[in-house]
Amino acid sequence: MHPAAPCCLDEISIMANRYLGDSFLLPALEPDNRHWFTNGQLHVQFCNSCDAARYPAEDVCFRCQSTDLEFRAIAGEGVIESVVEVQHPVHPLLADRVPYNVAVISLSGAPGCNAIGNIVNSDETDVSIGQNVRAIFEKATDPESGEELLIPNWEAV
Ligand SMILES: [Zn+2]
Repeated sequence: MHPAAPCCLDEISIMANRYLGDSFLLPALEPDNRHWFTNGQLHVQFCNSCDAARYPAEDVCFRCQSTDLEFRAIAGEGVIESVVEVQHPVHPLLADRVPYNVAVISLSGAPGCNAIGNIVNSDETDVSIGQNVRAIFEKATDPESGEELLIPNWEAV
């Protein structure tokens, strides 16, 4: 049994609007990503044999090949490792959304794990590598299942 990870379950921040618009594509829920997109809390897969963290999830530990894996809550915090400002829309639904940013975030509490997301609530010119960020979730409803999604984005702290 592992001690509970510090988390921000009591402090979930919800965005009023989706960063890339309400009609933009939603993630397809699967067993390995359901924790990430529905809990309003970040969950990362850990190996119970060697404690390696893995995101996105896999069926076998990359380090020790164990299949004894579990999802654990981590703090919704991280650091911007890379960020780009997109000027050219790569999808018609993004035509009126440019410029927008896409960042790589190293996840606190999950060594070696990076997530990709958007930095919200900041002037695009104020976003930079090395900034500390915290998760902020945007609500969406899966039109097929009717299930509520809570999609992580990031804001500077
Ligand atoms: Zn392992």
